Amino acid sequence: MSQTPPLTSAPTRAFDVLIVGSGLAGLSTALLLPSHLRVAILTKRTIEDGSSGWAQGGIAAVQADDDSFQAHIDDTLVAGAGLCDPDATRYTVENAPAAIDWLRQMGTRFTLHEGELHLTREGGHSHRRIVHAADATGAAVQQTLIERVRAAPNVQVFETHNLVDLILSDRHALAPTWPSRRCLGAYAFDESADEVQAFVAPHTVLCTGGAGKVYLYTSNPDTATGDGIAAAWRAGCRVANMEFIQFHPTCLYHPKAKSFLISEAVRGEGGRLLLPAALGARRFMPEHDPRAELAPRDVVARAIDFEMKKHGLDCVYLDISHQSPAFLQEHFPTILARCAELGIDIRREPIPVVPAAHYTCGGVLTDLRARTDLSGLYVVGEASCTGLHGANRLASNSLLECVVFARAAVADIVAQTPQALAPVRPWDTSRVSDADEQVVIAHNWDELRRFMWDYVGIVRTDKRLERAAHRIALLRAEIQEFYRSFHLTRDLLELRNLVEVADLIVRSAQARHESRGLHHSLDHPHTLAQAQPTVLDPASRPRT
Ligand SMILES: Cc1cc2nc3c(=O)[nH]c(=O)nc-3n(C[C@H](O)[C@H](O)[C@H](O)COP(=O)(O)OP(=O)(O)OC[C@H]3O[C@@H](n4cnc5c(N)ncnc54)[C@H](O)[C@@H]3O)c2cc1C
Repeated sequence: MSQTPPLTSAPTRAFDVLIVGSGLAGLSTALLLPSHLRVAILTKRTIEDGSSGWAQGGIAAVQADDDSFQAHIDDTLVAGAGLCDPDATRYTVENAPAAIDWLRQMGTRFTLHEGELHLTREGGHSHRRIVHAADATGAAVQQTLIERVRAAPNVQVFETHNLVDLILSDRHALAPTWPSRRCLGAYAFDESADEVQAFVAPHTVLCTGGAGKVYLYTSNPDTATGDGIAAAWRAGCRVANMEFIQFHPTCLYHPKAKSFLISEAVRGEGGRLLLPAALGARRFMPEHDPRAELAPRDVVARAIDFEMKKHGLDCVYLDISHQSPAFLQEHFPTILARCAELGIDIRREPIPVVPAAHYTCGGVLTDLRARTDLSGLYVVGEASCTGLHGANRLASNSLLECVVFARAAVADIVAQTPQALAPVRPWDTSRVSDADEQVVIAHNWDELRRFMWDYVGIVRTDKRLERAAHRIALLRAEIQEFYRSFHLTRDLLELRNLVEVADLIVRSAQARHESRGLHHSLDHPHTLAQAQPTVLDPASRPRT
């Protein structure tokens, strides 16, 4: 789906480092770079948008005397179902305390107890090691770093700038001055100016986040369309472990509630999962697992998915009404208030819930310095696959990964001899016209997200994956035609990337002939003795 732009005039901007994405990965990278470097951050909506600001729980880091790096490593390896990269895991865990120190130096006000960091404990962690800012950690961290970035004279932020594609020396440079194929920057569609601009830099860092929007139900913000993963793949980078999508078991199901999570603590406080009243409001979790509602999140998500598919339901219900109104007000004020806004009184009635795509464990394959297969290109954060998460992410390891690998990328960038910038081809729009059928894009978005939910969701079969692959091939052809013929819009760019990412998820799932971690196949229910990552290589696939 790549488009080689012919030569016309359009703005080109040059920087020392180009960062795409303004979540925790992007902002950390920008602030860790030395201040003599000129840095651009492109972000497709506002600087605030992205998953980072939505993170509630916290950041895992060994702090307590009775805790140890080995315990954090072991917990991560257990959650990852044998597939975590041991080096990436050790590297992340050992660098976690320094990451927390740096966030504090930047001004982040984590919750303290008697002057020390207050630590909570989350599922899968054997010790208290979650550093947090009340129940809005991501917002606290993001606000702090955003203020720092705004005050940094060497960092320029370009909002409403959507990554279109990476600029490659062998396709887009006017004179091939580079000794090897490398990344020279990125083309970005500026929605406000309605034009594509070239951003040139010797180092590009993709920090574009995950791909939850490929599914009908997701806890992710609208920005999570896998753009960086798709662009790196198109540019020739290998992508790994895309079949491992973590689903949160309980997202509020309501036409007006987008991506609102019902915390797992509701089940922890005795919340019961029920079928709808028409089916007798029957509790179903005990039939699936002896731990019932307290089973791990992937077991609960699978059970809900099973019941929804079996009975053809839109949602199931989570009932916490046995607790007193005072208890609910004290423990779940946000959930109580949000549900009340939507006319659901959780003190008296059950909450409609569905599982929702929450975290993309796979991504662009990187090494311990966040480097990809393409020289000059780094990927940091949820868009990357460092190997840390294996087949299932341990809670609160993901914000941590953003900061640890931002530091790693920066160390690698500053260690390099400064490179000259290559002149590149500006983008060309002379061949394209306005799309007369925007409805096709909207329709294809819906279709893609629905069949990914139905066929490539929590429980998979070979037949469902085949069906999805067939639908993706048809969509791909249609979107490619749109992309070649019509003016760019954000919707078109996102759909193009979602189709690419859906394809990567399906092909990874088809390549795994076992059930492991978050990948559960009815046709391959066993787990193989030897754990192997799924690595897809664009070089072994005909380009379209
Ligand atoms: C509801 C929720 C709760 C969570 N809670 C926790 C938690 O408690 N602890 C934890 O460790 N993790 C948590 N996570 C996961 C964690 O928030 C993410 O993994 C992490 O924030 C990812 O950071 P990031 O910088 O990689 O991506 P994001 O924060 O998603 O940032 C991506 C950025 O890239 C931009 N972007 C995307 N595409 C383009 C494009 N084409 N052009 C330009 N810009 C683009 C976006 O606008 C955004 O600025 C949670 C996630 C969610 C959704």
